[in-house]
Amino acid sequence: MNPNSSLAAFIQSLPKTETHLHFEGTLPLELLRQVRPEFATPPASWAHNFKFRDFAHFETELLDMAFSWFTSAERYHTAAKVVFARLAAQNIKYVETSFASGCIEFLGLNGREVLEAIRSAVPAGLEVRIFLGIHHNGCTPKMKPVLADALTWPDLAGIDLHGTESFPLEPWTADYWEAARRAGKYTKAHAGELMGADFVKRVLTELKPQRIEHGIRSLEDPAVVAEIKRRGIALDVCPISNHKLVPGISLENHPIRQLFDAGVKVTVSTDDPLSFGNTLAHEYVALVERRGFTRKEIVQLMRNGFEVALMPDMQKKPWLDQLDAAR
Ligand SMILES: [Zn+2]
Repeated sequence: MNPNSSLAAFIQSLPKTETHLHFEGTLPLELLRQVRPEFATPPASWAHNFKFRDFAHFETELLDMAFSWFTSAERYHTAAKVVFARLAAQNIKYVETSFASGCIEFLGLNGREVLEAIRSAVPAGLEVRIFLGIHHNGCTPKMKPVLADALTWPDLAGIDLHGTESFPLEPWTADYWEAARRAGKYTKAHAGELMGADFVKRVLTELKPQRIEHGIRSLEDPAVVAEIKRRGIALDVCPISNHKLVPGISLENHPIRQLFDAGVKVTVSTDDPLSFGNTLAHEYVALVERRGFTRKEIVQLMRNGFEVALMPDMQKKPWLDQLDAAR
């Protein structure tokens, strides 16, 4: 049998998680085509060796595509039905996805309605936790009361710091991340993707997130790696996204290898499939073929996803047992 098809079948057969998935960045291409017929051809960024010039290039293209579609809560619901069915078909059992607070600020949508539109599309058999993604400069006068109110939305699992990492980390963020935890929300932050280990350290100190999105450049400072391990913080890593967006990083030299070997709990996700043209299976195949992960190691990566999942242990057990049987 072709070793690639055997590997693909192995990956498909195992229960998996996606814990770093931007909802707007999961828009299926066939829905985008309904409103932007020029996308009969996929975006150039789907090409395997495409590299974005910088984060602004990536973000401008993503928002241009995504917000052509996401103009109403109903559109979020329509997309969510397709997205969740597709994830479930890949044997993905647990998903954490964030939607952008920009849909409230710039499109005038009602955040609670968007949350409900996504939540009500979750099919039986798939566990989904929904987060609100907020940019460094996302607490504008208009958004301040919305962000305060969001912490009372029962179906909101948590918050995530999004957007351009190099933008100043404003004083409201530390207070808001603390208020979110007091309100029982789970806190994440993007850090250490395009900014270095110093920024990860600053986020760890000021925001004290319970999970870091990307975090790959933590590797530049052994003290930061040690602190991540000491706190038991997991990194939700997206190798193909980093390959196409982070200068100097490719699948062949990706820091996930060193982080994994150093004992950091890393998980694997796709980030923004609309921009990268990737699936979770592509990520795992790339880790095996281009970064030297063994099958046993990718099972451990899958296991990490369930270990960090915001579910009771009893609920995780059947999936963990299935992964343990595959090692
Ligand atoms: Zn991300």
